[in-house]
Amino acid sequence: MKQKNLHQYPLVWRKDDFFIKIYSSIPNVSTGILLTTSKTAFIVDPGDGILRDLTKDVGPETILRVSDIFISHGHHDHVGGVWSLLTYWSVLRRKTPLSIYYPEGCVEIESIYKAFNEVYGKELSYKITLKPISDQKAFTRNSVRIKPFKVNHRELNPDGTSAEIPSLGFKYYYDSKSICYGGDTAYCENLVKMAKGSDLAIIEAGALDEESTDLHMTVAQAKEIGKTAKEFFLVHVPDE
Ligand SMILES: [Zn+2]
Repeated sequence: MKQKNLHQYPLVWRKDDFFIKIYSSIPNVSTGILLTTSKTAFIVDPGDGILRDLTKDVGPETILRVSDIFISHGHHDHVGGVWSLLTYWSVLRRKTPLSIYYPEGCVEIESIYKAFNEVYGKELSYKITLKPISDQKAFTRNSVRIKPFKVNHRELNPDGTSAEIPSLGFKYYYDSKSICYGGDTAYCENLVKMAKGSDLAIIEAGALDEESTDLHMTVAQAKEIGKTAKEFFLVHVPDE
């Protein structure tokens, strides 16, 4: 039986000044996440509509505070809003540098950046740094510690087979609290390990049925992982 998407977006979570808002996470359509502390703002998986949602919700001041973008993988529902964000910042004459973290080998982000740079590179008011990353040691950005971890996401080939794509989850630590975002993934041990004990786990439940679990997780699988965190959100649940 298909699961009905009962989520009403946005999903919001806050502990003191550690805040995350999921504007949307709809398979094949769009994801869009804003993570903030008093010191910084990150955008995670800027799918189509992220600029519209941020403009309506927080306005240019917060959008200009965004120091880093984190991409879990290159599928269009996770990167579709990158071009408009980069252009928006250019129009607003952003001055502060921007870093884009993405899984090594994610050609979509490199292609978007290359095309953007060809069009706007000469007149750009801010510096963009591409940061390909892998399952590596944690690093810190503006007092937030970020631990990227490899997850297991695939895409379908035209002949019906599937191929693994570069994909990461991220665990964000700030002020002795943590948020674990798994991106898109089939059930995987790395996510099990990272979600456990998190203050918030954001877990995808995108499998259409029991047969499609090499691409995504079922609601039951996602809940099993989510329950090991203090709180969890299920996202990326397919609409009927
Ligand atoms: Zn995907």
